[in-house]
Amino acid sequence: MKVFCSAERQRAHYPRHFLVNGARQANPEVPERLDRLFQAVSTGAHDIVEPSDHGMGPIAAVHTPEYIRFLSRIYERWLRVPDASDEVIPNIHPDRRTAGYPLSAVGQAGYHMSDTACPIGPHSWESIRWSANTAASAAAHVSAGAPCAYALCRPPGHHAFSDLAGGFCYVNNASVAAAFLHRTCERVAIIDVDLHHGNGTQGIFYARADIFTMSIHADPIRFYPFFWGHAAERGEGPGLGYNLNLPLPRGSRDGAFLDALERGLESVRAFAPGALVVALGLDAFEGDPFGGLAVTTDGFGRIAERLARLGLPTVIVQEGGYLCDALGDNLASFLAGFEAAHRAG
Ligand SMILES: [Zn+2]
Repeated sequence: MKVFCSAERQRAHYPRHFLVNGARQANPEVPERLDRLFQAVSTGAHDIVEPSDHGMGPIAAVHTPEYIRFLSRIYERWLRVPDASDEVIPNIHPDRRTAGYPLSAVGQAGYHMSDTACPIGPHSWESIRWSANTAASAAAHVSAGAPCAYALCRPPGHHAFSDLAGGFCYVNNASVAAAFLHRTCERVAIIDVDLHHGNGTQGIFYARADIFTMSIHADPIRFYPFFWGHAAERGEGPGLGYNLNLPLPRGSRDGAFLDALERGLESVRAFAPGALVVALGLDAFEGDPFGGLAVTTDGFGRIAERLARLGLPTVIVQEGGYLCDALGDNLASFLAGFEAAHRAG
């Protein structure tokens, strides 16, 4: 499989901290994640390609101009704020998003960041931009006729809304890939298998009937992102019925995950998409530090087989999955399962 990644540029972003239950902790979205995943695809079984620079078009297709200006310039502006922190971190948020747009760097940080997990440092924008280029390049490859491609995106993207960062995510890479595929394909499906609900992806396409979004994740009733990911969220306006959430009880294992996936795939087949984006989080793993679900290394291979059997042109976009011994093995298991079933189908 062709693997897209701009490793040096995508590892430059190095967020230092975030808050967990109010306490300051080391941020787990570290460059070493990329190193481990990159190593797992460097075995000779895959063809690693440097992404092209697609400019701002693919990002602007799914994010607002205000938000793109914010992401690209806020670090330099933050340096001029007296006594500010080393990284951009919000400390005030609007109660609703209809009350005007502040000029202040601090005000805009609160407007565009839903939590403290997305610090912006000196190299963040470069990594964010190239993570999006990685997704766009993989989508361009599939749009041009390749059966599948893997985008090793870092930072991840699925918690980012059109104008809001959150959960280690800034630009929504899976949405960038889906919008890119949509240029040449009438209906695109996004299936998110990350431990956490893909709330940003859901938000971006919530009112659309031409991009079907589905997410399997730990039940948000007691788990991040809390305010999204419930089964009752089904889309709105013309998009009603085009968003499917399949929350699972904490600790669910392979069997429950695969059962939910089979149920969801029935809806995906009925939608009859021409292309697929898989938002591949590996943090549903039983040994992931987030500890929400209990998918095994073999389980990722079986999930991949089911997805490949849809027989669709597919872009696999890396989302979460945090440092643990099996992180690379889980990616290898997924990609091997996907390729074997895609070839057979
Ligand atoms: Zn996650």
